[in-house]
Amino acid sequence: MKKYTTVLSLLLAMTGCTSSNQDTSEATLTEKEGYVLSKGERAVAKNHRIRFLVLHYTALDQAQSFETLTRSELVSANYLIPDRPKTYKGLLVADQLVDDHDRSWHAGVSQWKNRSNLNDTSLGIEIVNAGWDQGTGQLLGEPYNEQQIELLISLTRDLVRKYDIEPTDIVGHSDIAPGRKIDPGPFFPWKRLAEAGIGAWPDEGTIDNYLARFSVSPPSMIQVAKALQTYGYGYLDQQPERVVEAFQMRFNQENVSGIVDIRTAAILFSLIDKYHGKDKASAILLPSEVAALG
Ligand SMILES: [Zn+2]
Repeated sequence: MKKYTTVLSLLLAMTGCTSSNQDTSEATLTEKEGYVLSKGERAVAKNHRIRFLVLHYTALDQAQSFETLTRSELVSANYLIPDRPKTYKGLLVADQLVDDHDRSWHAGVSQWKNRSNLNDTSLGIEIVNAGWDQGTGQLLGEPYNEQQIELLISLTRDLVRKYDIEPTDIVGHSDIAPGRKIDPGPFFPWKRLAEAGIGAWPDEGTIDNYLARFSVSPPSMIQVAKALQTYGYGYLDQQPERVVEAFQMRFNQENVSGIVDIRTAAILFSLIDKYHGKDKASAILLPSEVAALG
């Protein structure tokens, strides 16, 4: 107690003014090793370091997934959704392998919303699933099971609330590393998550409007690329087809071809409409001299 009083007097002396509105009461002081921290004055300008949630599948079975994600010196994730989640007091159990404030190594070379190296700004969530074969378009094992999806929804809901994560900032690994990564794949139930309030999803009515419009006057490839970039995708100058493919895995799972059909374009512009405003969508669609798509 005596020590605090001494520090308090010292702080008051330093400010040279006892009528300052800085709160220098003892409650704001924490004694550290060799110094004292005061939290009497706090800044307004701030946000969370964690801005994005990145979803993955492990492409391994439960035992291999756990072994790799805990023992490997190359890869990790903040969370793991097991193949068959255990229960505790009637609730499903997720594994936290890396604390939120630590960087896990899950994203690799990546871009989203003009940021790169997303390990710095995201949390990685791995789900045990064998994945899919891009050649055949088929699942390699079982689909994501009900318990995994329920657990994932509860976990992501909690993280979204805690870190104020935007719907468009909940992404798949393939979204941030198109062409290099294909998880969580076109069998991942993004729509189901959206129905539970997790992540972005376009409105059907808006899609219908754009379908009608684009069947008469489809957008150019440049306009589509601009819209993809506005939504958050990177790498459009390098491999636009792979970016389209990633977008389709996320939002148009019946057509993962890398080719922009009318429906893919309608979904994309509906998303711009919903999350970036109708004006933004209209601005991108202003007539240009570029030849229209197919
Ligand atoms: Zn991944």
